[in-house]
Amino acid sequence: MSQLENASRSQIEEHQLARLQLGLSRILPHNRFYEEKLRSHQVSISLSSFDDLSSFPFTTKQELVADQESYPLFGSNLTYPMNDYIRLHQTSGTTGRPLKILDTQESWDWWAECWMSVYQSAGVTRDDIVFLAFSFGPFIGFWSAYEGAKRLGALTVPGGGMDSLQRLRAIQEIDATVLVCTPSYALHLAEVAQEHGLDMRLSNVRITIHAGEPGASIPSTRERIQSAWNAQTYDHAGMTEMGAFGFACSEQQGLHVNEGEFIAEILDPVTNQPVHEGQTGELILTNLGRWGNPAIRYRTGDLVRHGGYSCACGRTFLLFPGGVLGRVDDMLIVRGVNVYPSALANMLHRFPEVNEFRVIVTSEGPMDEIALQVECPSYLKSAIEDELHIALNLRVPIETVEPGTLPRFELKARRVEDRRNGA
Ligand SMILES: [Zn+2]
Repeated sequence: MSQLENASRSQIEEHQLARLQLGLSRILPHNRFYEEKLRSHQVSISLSSFDDLSSFPFTTKQELVADQESYPLFGSNLTYPMNDYIRLHQTSGTTGRPLKILDTQESWDWWAECWMSVYQSAGVTRDDIVFLAFSFGPFIGFWSAYEGAKRLGALTVPGGGMDSLQRLRAIQEIDATVLVCTPSYALHLAEVAQEHGLDMRLSNVRITIHAGEPGASIPSTRERIQSAWNAQTYDHAGMTEMGAFGFACSEQQGLHVNEGEFIAEILDPVTNQPVHEGQTGELILTNLGRWGNPAIRYRTGDLVRHGGYSCACGRTFLLFPGGVLGRVDDMLIVRGVNVYPSALANMLHRFPEVNEFRVIVTSEGPMDEIALQVECPSYLKSAIEDELHIALNLRVPIETVEPGTLPRFELKARRVEDRRNGA
């Protein structure tokens, strides 16, 4: 644990303020996007206290996408000359036009440092063999996880270009001790292993680290991964536009924000006022080291709960109990009840017979209605309906379907099918 990780709040904030001030001095003379944005909002860029940050305007993804359309290809959020940039990545583009993100060597090293914190807090060392079960494409998460493991000094194995069975065999053959992939894919790999008579509980994998979607912070999902792999399971959170900002500690109560490298605010998505401890809001992040392509007060669209600053692990970094709870846009309001797909996953995964599920959203006038398709034996139908009724105080219709019939996901699981407004 670094010194800052268990420092007092005032020491942490002092560090963040100094880093942001340094960053602004590097960004502003050259970065047209932020120079124009901050000038048009007439904010003072000399920050005398932490509260001054609240006068800074938000940055949104739509704004960055529009900027890249106005200034093709890479937009104007660039601080250095083009030939200083060494990596190009892009967002998945599942919710609109992909965002292209460039990194300098300095920013790339910073990414690797942030990922190294994820490994270290999970107990990974240079003696480990890290297998990355991803298709290595233009998505940044895999590459930064790879760079972080390399920086830690572990033996790092990219598992791109393989199917699930080949990956399982590779994990066994090389005696991998750490598996990095999405939580859904860890469960899918375990299913494939079972189909082929492989028992991954007997493999050397002792730690699994997950990203890309909520899951590893959901207790019942985490337990399921842990038992399928006989390993300790850790969550992590990151974004292409932002960096690897969250990691799980030994207490596994959710995610800590890496407050040495990021400033986190949690705001009510409607009023934009800070929420109190225990409340849920939208995560707003500022990164403190990616000066080549910075993000200041970025609206992540992620919902998190403010869990305060004290943890049994000794860290004083802000805690999000349950990790990232979902997307602000994913929240469904069914007969006045807020429903998050991650909460449904938690309830369903308490049934060992349940594999995948899908949420079907329809609309009845202005109201949303949901129904679930669940891969499990049909005799569980009423037990699941009762469980959901107790947990949500809602009657949700369940349709049981044959195992293996619902889609599986290597990347972000998309378990909500929106059939509202005739969609
Ligand atoms: Zn902790």
